[in-house]
Amino acid sequence: MCGIHDLTEKDLQPLPYTPAYLDKIKGMRFFDPHVHMSARTTDDYQAMADAGVVALIEPAFWLGQPRTGIDTFRDYFSSLLGWERFRASQFGIKHYCTIGLNSKEANNEALAEAVMEILPQFIYKEGVVGVGEIGFDDQTPLEEKYYRAQLELAKEAGLPVQIHTPHRDKKRGTQRSMDIALEHGLPPHMIIVDHNNEETVKEVLDRGFWAAFTIYPFTKMGNERMVAIVQQYGSERIMVNSAADWGISDPLAVPKTAALMHESGIDLNDIHLVTYSNAVTAFAQSGQINEDDFNIAGNIDQREKFNGSTILRGGQQPRVDKNTTIIR
Ligand SMILES: [Zn+2]
Repeated sequence: MCGIHDLTEKDLQPLPYTPAYLDKIKGMRFFDPHVHMSARTTDDYQAMADAGVVALIEPAFWLGQPRTGIDTFRDYFSSLLGWERFRASQFGIKHYCTIGLNSKEANNEALAEAVMEILPQFIYKEGVVGVGEIGFDDQTPLEEKYYRAQLELAKEAGLPVQIHTPHRDKKRGTQRSMDIALEHGLPPHMIIVDHNNEETVKEVLDRGFWAAFTIYPFTKMGNERMVAIVQQYGSERIMVNSAADWGISDPLAVPKTAALMHESGIDLNDIHLVTYSNAVTAFAQSGQINEDDFNIAGNIDQREKFNGSTILRGGQQPRVDKNTTIIR
């Protein structure tokens, strides 16, 4: 008999299932330098930790709906530095962020002015590894104005810049972003140009900038194309991220791409560079990254609280695993 009435509590529990790709990346550590965790769930954090993600960067960005006041920006920036960092720590993941005014909301001039005024209160805080994500969306004059203003801010603070390149008219937008950064006297090694593709990568690398690639499921840049890019251009100054957010995206894009690269015969050292150490090197120029801090995985204590709140819901058993070296 297997009617629905025969189901027990036990039948409804998830089966212990380990995706096959995890075998290919056993023991590897990953750094996702662009992922919007505040839009993600605790399941995502757990899956990332299980797949070897030890640290990440959450850039400040657009929330899918325009904000109407400066206080929501203030609270958002504070949450990237506070609550979200705490949430990540509860899964053994070191959380950093970049702070900036995103290109879409730069088009609301009154609000953009107010954001510019509060940015200096946030970019000097501990764990802020850059000004970002900033740059062009529709390539409007207001986007350019606030992109330039924030480049000046980054220069003054000595922080790397994380550039969001536009999805429409990408090639021209990427060139313009680099030209303007140079015009403001920022050296290419302080600039991470994000959301590259086959059309932009050569020029970005030739000009000495960091080239970041976002792996998007079903569109643009899938990870097979990423493998081909590393086969063609090598691993110098290239990094992979998920840019997972509230839309259709994959927070496991970095470990999955590492697995695919491994399967495709890419050298382990190259995989390590593009899925971990290049991003560490680029953003460590902020003076805010210490790799020793990535080893928090062995000291998770989910009984901990942030401003009196935990990530646990009534009756849940906290995970307390002190001093295991690797979590997967
Ligand atoms: Zn983003």
